[in-house]
Amino acid sequence: MFKGHKKNSSQQEPLTQARVLEVLKQVKGPQKQGNIVDLGLVKDLLITDNKVIFSIEVPQELAPQLEGMRAAAEKVVSVLPGAGQVLVALTAQAQKGQSPVKPPMPSKPKAAAPAAPRQSKDALAIPGVRHIIAVASGKGGVGKSTTSVNMALALSAQGLKVGILDADIYGPSLPKLMGVSGSPTVGENNIINPHEAHGIKLMSIGFLVDDSAAMIWRGPMITSALNQMLREVAWGELDVLIIDMPPGTGDVQLTMAQRVPLSGAIVVSTPQDLALIDARRAIAMFEKTGIKILGVVENMSHFVCPSCGERHDIFATGGAKEEADKQAVPFLGEVPLSMKLREYSDAGTPVLVANPKAPEAVSYNAIARQLQPMLAMSKDQLARPAPKIIFE
Ligand code: ADP
Repeated sequence: MFKGHKKNSSQQEPLTQARVLEVLKQVKGPQKQGNIVDLGLVKDLLITDNKVIFSIEVPQELAPQLEGMRAAAEKVVSVLPGAGQVLVALTAQAQKGQSPVKPPMPSKPKAAAPAAPRQSKDALAIPGVRHIIAVASGKGGVGKSTTSVNMALALSAQGLKVGILDADIYGPSLPKLMGVSGSPTVGENNIINPHEAHGIKLMSIGFLVDDSAAMIWRGPMITSALNQMLREVAWGELDVLIIDMPPGTGDVQLTMAQRVPLSGAIVVSTPQDLALIDARRAIAMFEKTGIKILGVVENMSHFVCPSCGERHDIFATGGAKEEADKQAVPFLGEVPLSMKLREYSDAGTPVLVANPKAPEAVSYNAIARQLQPMLAMSKDQLARPAPKIIFE
């Protein structure tokens, strides 16, 4: 994540952007010519509560070699009077032809996704992490985070080593859902040790900054924060790292789809028509970036009356399955609308932990079992498109 020095900065003159930029001129550019300020590489400079936050935009291919430059920038700022914590991130310059585009909504299966910003070649793998899977939704509130957490626990119960990265910068829910809070410790080379709960490694922006700080970040800041949460965390050996994506299909999501070495994506939807339109958009976004849709989960599918045990299809249940069939992507399973599920989540003890035999837990276990054969494949095998039969 953002690496940083913390110092006592009380009774100092407030630090100004001009002062920060002035000292940053001491830092040479990536090619050792010019300085990072005059080269226009310093972006998103923000000074808030003594924290100085900025990113340095660099060519993607040079990024792995530029940690020294990042550290130098951090150092020159951190010694300034009035600077508390200094958070510096490297961000990759957008390449020509990679500007985010809004995916159109397909109405029926297509033979092939049109040429579009594909997953970037420099989406370097994370050593030790076998698969990275995005859990996404077309809009917020459909149960994406609840699904990510319980699916992760189900996979873990089935013997896999699992981590979760909560990438929902504007509404991180992992700390609450897993009942974990506080800053993680920082190990050698400033690498963050993720929290661990119920056998799952956890990382969330909610562990690092308070909500108000993240709320004012703009797109590139978010992208660089996520990149660091992904790459500068000691994930260790994992069979799967689940990324709980920010809801929606905006630029941040698209950039992540392009730059994170994803093995595939899971789209969560509720069964109503409106949610399905959003889910379709999410599926389209991943397909355009060449990322395989591992499946669709229907959340809040039906309601089982706690007193009479009868099933009620409150919404038009089965909508997500129909949509998955229409889009020719797998349907992974359905999770009932359940007050218990929400209560467990609110208490920070997910249903898989609190009551692994509950019907809701059974649903997540079934979804995890559907995923298992896919996760047993290598990333390359998984990425290979299955043959599609197209009816016009
Ligand atoms: P998202 O990540 O899509 O924004 P969350 O997982 O945070 O959604 O869920 C939103 C709210 O809905 C939370 O209060 C959560 O407890 C509740 N919720 C999620 N899934 C279910 C479900 N199957 N039954 C009942 N409540 C649910």
